[in-house]
Amino acid sequence: MALTGPVPIGTLPPLGEVPPQMWAQVVRQDRLGEPIDAFRPEVIETPEPGPGEVLIAVMAAGINFNNVWAARGIPIDVIAARQRAGVPADFHVGGSDASGIVYAVGTGVTDVAVGDEVVVHHGWWDPDDPWVKAGNDPMVAPSVAIWGYDWPRNYGSFAQFCLVQAHQVMPRAERLTWEEAAANSLVGTTAYRMLFGWPPNTVREGDVVLVWGGSGGLGSQAIQLAKHAGGRAIAVVSGAQRGAFTERLGAIGWIDRREFDHWGIPPHWTDGEGQKRWLAGVRAFGKKIWEIAGERRNPAIVFEHPGEETIPTSIFVCADGGMTVICAGTTGYSATVDLRYLWTKQKRLQGSHGTNDEQARAYNDLVRGGAIDPALGRTLPFDEIPRAHQEMAEGRHGVGNTAILVGAPEPGLGRR
Ligand code: NAP
Repeated sequence: MALTGPVPIGTLPPLGEVPPQMWAQVVRQDRLGEPIDAFRPEVIETPEPGPGEVLIAVMAAGINFNNVWAARGIPIDVIAARQRAGVPADFHVGGSDASGIVYAVGTGVTDVAVGDEVVVHHGWWDPDDPWVKAGNDPMVAPSVAIWGYDWPRNYGSFAQFCLVQAHQVMPRAERLTWEEAAANSLVGTTAYRMLFGWPPNTVREGDVVLVWGGSGGLGSQAIQLAKHAGGRAIAVVSGAQRGAFTERLGAIGWIDRREFDHWGIPPHWTDGEGQKRWLAGVRAFGKKIWEIAGERRNPAIVFEHPGEETIPTSIFVCADGGMTVICAGTTGYSATVDLRYLWTKQKRLQGSHGTNDEQARAYNDLVRGGAIDPALGRTLPFDEIPRAHQEMAEGRHGVGNTAILVGAPEPGLGRR
């Protein structure tokens, strides 16, 4: 008998049978603001895959900071942006990490089949974009977007079915449960691009790599990736419990950022006294790095995402000829750079965003091979998506990554 409505959360319809409606955690413009209020469960129409697209039954979804931004409408209102791009939808179904089972494929999809057990990376672009067609890195194409956040289609993983482009689909690690598999692809593939995508500044044997937010989503992956490449990761954290977590992931040591107070925009270079104070703070921070490294060695790579509060420190402590690579500005966007340290020491400040297919697959192979752990911190039910984002927004989400059960009835399933 044909399905007439959504199946209950925690269940799946027979393979390949797609219900006309599904449950989703939906953001609407009239409730943009704090995530706890912005997300609400609703029954919506299940989308159909268009050409080159794949419909996946979501077993588990991963929580990422991008949907804190989507819930707040800051720095962009993703619904308004989508409407400006000609998509009529007046709601947002976010979610940039999924593990699941393929239920339908659109025309032209040949390398993904119904029944495949998969995860998804978050790089989205228009396959007809001339930049992409010319063989350039699609992550700098005019059409590029982050799947599950600001992309023109509207069906991320906070729903029973999500819609992706076929190139985003990757085989899942069979050694992992559904929730473990859903936890890490966005942060892991982003960290991979940051650490290996900007030659010649890639992690090399013996390099010191400073990782801000080492116990967080990105940081937990960056530490493991740096170590895997022979680097020596030093984490920055707030608190000993978080520090211990980073050591378990392979960091050679950690710094408690709460012991310092020189954060934010430094005093102007003409303010001699202020500069002196700031330099004392940042030099003490640098000394901690040397103590942990066991030598007066500065980080070849500084792994950045806090932004405004930390960029001046990152540029200062970065090794001569080294790179500070940044993918976010969680604490603000008005970061200042004292150009003296940048040009005379020939340092590089590099922006990085998302992942391309090659980087995502290289990262996913490391996960499948067991070299990288998803660093799953906790698993929550579907109706906790608003709370999970609220706690992330307030820095109360604990260590590692958070996963949400959607089609999986309970944690611990899916391992083969
Ligand atoms: P997360 O799990 O919340 O981790 C962020 C970490 O930053 C926290 O664990 C916290 O650790 C640290 N932190 C908080 N305030 C800080 C401050 N004032 N100074 C220094 N560190 C601070 O988040 P995430 O998943 O790693 O994501 C971090 C950011 O990157 C978000 O803005 C996210 O949107 C962005 N992002 C961008 C991309 C991309 O493709 N461009 C991809 C992934 C994530 P401690 O309190 O222990 O220091």
